[in-house]
Amino acid sequence: MPKITIAQNILAANDIIAQDIHQLLTIRGIRTINMMSSPGAGKTTLLERTIERLRGQLEVGVIEGDIETGNDAERIEAAGAETVQINTQGACHLEAHMVQDALKEMNLTGMRLLFIENIGNLVCPAAWDLGEDIRIVIASTTEGDDKPAKYPQMFAISQIMVVNKIDLLPYVDYSLEKVRRQALAINPNLRIFEVSCRTGDGLDAWCEWLSAFINGTT
Ligand code: MG
Ligand code: ZN
Repeated sequence: MPKITIAQNILAANDIIAQDIHQLLTIRGIRTINMMSSPGAGKTTLLERTIERLRGQLEVGVIEGDIETGNDAERIEAAGAETVQINTQGACHLEAHMVQDALKEMNLTGMRLLFIENIGNLVCPAAWDLGEDIRIVIASTTEGDDKPAKYPQMFAISQIMVVNKIDLLPYVDYSLEKVRRQALAINPNLRIFEVSCRTGDGLDAWCEWLSAFINGTT
């Protein structure tokens, strides 16, 4: 089965680069989060709200993955983080070599926390190790409450699930209870936060957890 062999070799080569990234960032005391979701779930908005809350407390870096445009990187930079944009020009996930190249463009001095915003896609980003410490999947109330059941791999490999747009719950057919149940059936260790980036609901708990994560107490 040569196709399978090729795919495995590519993934193995990726994992070697990912290990190098992880080592580099760990030595520098930088904790790294790979953020994944479908398009429009609110990765960039969650980053904006998070960076605003952490401003003045610690240095945050963001590697912003998009197929095209620098719109999201401009938003993140305006929020106050060191930002590098990766445009994959068609590719539907980030790979470790892209992150490695982006890191060469970043000033890592003093940085404590690095977010990697992956391409909006609930499928293949789950297969690519980017050298992160943890993986976060963002679900949102506007995208239907069947996502964990339909894309189990993404929820299986994540340590955190953030459910965004809870302010819209009265207007959408979305059962938080069903999503929690599906996600925990796939991954019983998944930690769940429910937030609204629009109203700010739930962001205190999220940022408290993030501080503990950076300080290595979680
Ligand atoms: Mg984005
Ligand atoms: Zn892909």
